[in-house]
Amino acid sequence: MDRSFFGQPRGLVGLFCTEAWERFSYYGMRALLLYYMYDQVTDGGLGIPADTAKSVVAVYGSATYMAAILGGWISDRLLGDRRTTFLGGVLIMCGHICLALPAGAGALFASMIFIACGTGLLKPTVSSSVGDLYAKDDPRRDSGFSIYYMGISVGAVAAPLVVGTIGQKYDYHLGFGIAAIGMALGLVVYVRTQRHLSDISSRPKNPLRLSDVPRTRAVWFVASLAGLTASIALAAAAGLLGVTAVVNSISALAVALPIAYFTAMLRSKRTTPAERARVRGYIPLFIAAVFFWMIQEQGATVLAQYADRSTDLDAFGFAVPASWFQSVGSFVLIVLTPLFAALWLRMDSSARPPSTASKFSFALAVAGVSYLVLVLPSLQDGDSSPLWLVGSLVLVTIGEMCLSPIGLSATAKLAPAAFATQTMGLWLTAGAAGQGIAAQLVKFYSPDTAGVYFGAIGAATIVVSLVLLALLPVIRRQTEAKGVPGDVRP
Ligand code: GLN
Repeated sequence: MDRSFFGQPRGLVGLFCTEAWERFSYYGMRALLLYYMYDQVTDGGLGIPADTAKSVVAVYGSATYMAAILGGWISDRLLGDRRTTFLGGVLIMCGHICLALPAGAGALFASMIFIACGTGLLKPTVSSSVGDLYAKDDPRRDSGFSIYYMGISVGAVAAPLVVGTIGQKYDYHLGFGIAAIGMALGLVVYVRTQRHLSDISSRPKNPLRLSDVPRTRAVWFVASLAGLTASIALAAAAGLLGVTAVVNSISALAVALPIAYFTAMLRSKRTTPAERARVRGYIPLFIAAVFFWMIQEQGATVLAQYADRSTDLDAFGFAVPASWFQSVGSFVLIVLTPLFAALWLRMDSSARPPSTASKFSFALAVAGVSYLVLVLPSLQDGDSSPLWLVGSLVLVTIGEMCLSPIGLSATAKLAPAAFATQTMGLWLTAGAAGQGIAAQLVKFYSPDTAGVYFGAIGAATIVVSLVLLALLPVIRRQTEAKGVPGDVRP
């Protein structure tokens, strides 16, 4: 057994560093994006109205996670993980280069296409390469994933401090350029370390043979693709493809995609009746995750605006760049991970271990409270102390620790066998739908409406958390469908 990296397979170190650099580039870009969009042209920004800017940042994130479904499919059926990851990294780097050029709004939308497609290719395939380092029954798999999640957090904590500071203090394009260099370094690491990956990642797991595809289905597919491309081109030519149309379309698609995916899973002949019951039990968990990401991902939109426009940034005796607040969550995550790992071990081995649904319900309640905390400072006149915002970010991160890793593991365990390989992508679509909904909500936030905004969304989230709690027995009945080996408690 390969134990060359702290008792873990050597391939893990390459994947850890690749993902750390990829997340560095993504979260670095994200820390700057809102400010770059709404800052005045004379200050180096694009001068886009703040409401539109927040919606665009939200759908930008939504599109990147939606594309993960496509990335999973391309890897499984056409290219295999290694080639898909590499291609994804190259596209991401091109996206950041677009933003590094002082080329205005056109470059922003080009970057969105490159980064959404690239992240869709890279993110699910790097995660699945981690899984492939271990044999099915290897007990190191969970700890391997925890180490990998730390890589995500290391990249995410450093990014706003480096890219954010350079972008806000010197020049936005220079900041985006640093993000591109980060992704380039990730690619170099990946190329130099990929020989340590499992052989399985070098080929498609379920290769597509054209002879297996029914001709009518192929014709339908090509015709639909051509129809869609032609409609988009026509709409663009007719001047109908404005920012609002793009935002609304992505929002609608982000909600429709998981609905379509669940319907396909439930109706598929390849899903057994017991698996179908488990999928039904998984749906409330997925909806809870959508609500959670709807709040958590507003860290880069509403809370970024709150940091910039309603927080006293000189409170610590020097001018703190507003983008730094986007490091708080990842920092807390790194510090609290060992504590939570110990807590789960203790609770899960107790006589009455908490269920996935109760952990999700707790996560949602804390996320709701993280918004309610901001009601009071929002109602006061003048800039608020940064400690309110930090407190809110700490709370939502505690929720993230109860939902994100637990959700990944529940997704893997509840997935029907025939859909197993695409489940990483499905889980990411919860983040896509959450941000798709947020893209519509964020327009209602402004420094004047902040108190009502935080109060209403915080309270609504707590209500959803209570509904989930009330559904516990139903979810338990569905997910514990008889005769299914390896059931998890809901
Ligand atoms: N924040 C985590 C990451 O960047 C998870 C995101 C998600 O699942 N929506 O990888």
